[in-house]
Amino acid sequence: SYRKGGYHAVRIGDSFAGGRFIAQRKLGWGQFSTVWLAYDTQTSKYVALKIQKSAPEFVQAALHEIEILSAITENDPKNEKCVVQLVDHFKHRGPNGQHLCMVLEFLGDSILHLIRYNRYKGINLNKVREMCRCILTGLDYLHRELRILHTDLKPENILLVSTVNPSKDPIRSKTPPILERPEGSLTGGAAVNVIEKKLKQRARRAVAKIAAERRGGVPEPKPERCLDGIDFRCKIVDLGNACGADKAVAEEIQTRQYRAPEVILQSGYSFPVDMWSFACTAFELATGEMMFAPKPGPGFSEDEDHLALMMELLGKMPRKIAIGGGRSKDYFDRHGDLKRIRRLKHSSLSRLLIDKFKFPETDAREFAEFLTPILDFDPENRPTAQQCLQHPWLRQTETKTG
Ligand code: ATP
Ligand code: MG
Ligand code: MG
Repeated sequence: SYRKGGYHAVRIGDSFAGGRFIAQRKLGWGQFSTVWLAYDTQTSKYVALKIQKSAPEFVQAALHEIEILSAITENDPKNEKCVVQLVDHFKHRGPNGQHLCMVLEFLGDSILHLIRYNRYKGINLNKVREMCRCILTGLDYLHRELRILHTDLKPENILLVSTVNPSKDPIRSKTPPILERPEGSLTGGAAVNVIEKKLKQRARRAVAKIAAERRGGVPEPKPERCLDGIDFRCKIVDLGNACGADKAVAEEIQTRQYRAPEVILQSGYSFPVDMWSFACTAFELATGEMMFAPKPGPGFSEDEDHLALMMELLGKMPRKIAIGGGRSKDYFDRHGDLKRIRRLKHSSLSRLLIDKFKFPETDAREFAEFLTPILDFDPENRPTAQQCLQHPWLRQTETKTG
């Protein structure tokens, strides 16, 4: 993809916007862009530089994303609404064409990293609560104040607020920002995310353990996963698929596992689709597993498996909803039963949390009471982000059982 119309190749030390931003290291990439940690020489702060591919369709998409990010930033001058902010934007000419660049505030690892780091075991509920409050604050802001749908909410698109503070971080004070292109071998820039640091520590421990075993020594007991030092505040990012509520035209939105039933059935959609994805994300944080991971099977499609999984966990879809969408006839008979998947194994959310994920009964019941209304098949019945923020589950600070 590093060709005409594609990504812009960046080397550490490269400068942008007339020397204002200096590339430090790569933070990530997506279908549209590469994202770099950069040092802002004007403010002496680190930023994330999202460098879009250069072909016209990517330029168009970046302009759209910049428009949305500008509205987000302008209407949140105190930066307290839990959605990523745009610092600046500019054009950069390179061998592959003209690239739009978005300068974003620098954030930490995604909560998908957090779930992986925790070995898919689920995060402590108090921390899940804290993250849920942030995500809902962000959604409430997007929905109620800006009338924007995100349409791709999922763990990958929620980033932790980086705790790495330039003035306090020992690593950074020892490693000043790179200000020009280094010669010879390239080493990464200064800002390191907390989880990444911990993963490196873990790798070192694993090597030390193998060495100890080779020596015939007693291996150290497996260290408990330590999440200390991680700030559980987070922000919603990747507004590339966001759209105004009155301009929601795309038919297929959302990443498969976080897709709402009305999108599968093509019954029309609005803000409640983000609420569905939110509930799937909260479940995944608390359990370490995706709520719905559909697969096609003999005689049925991925969509049909998805609808079946939803009904196994949430009960039968009301007939009116099941038969009301543009694609309903492909999946449901006129009674509102799935045509090709006949036998469903019913469970309930709280039973699943207790039996499979070993939640204490009270925790399971309370968490299920919070999530179940958000997973209503009828989007009109789902609570809004604002209503969810009032839920007693989020107001709690301690769980009795820890
Ligand atoms: P997609 O294909 O998901 O639409 P994209 O090209 O639009 O990708 P983003 O999802 O915005 O790109 O960013 C790609 C990755 O870069 C993210 O998953 C994340 O790891 C990293 N990243 C993005 N924004 C930031 C930020 N503000 N701070 C730190 N890292 C970031
Ligand atoms: Mg993304
Ligand atoms: Mg995107």
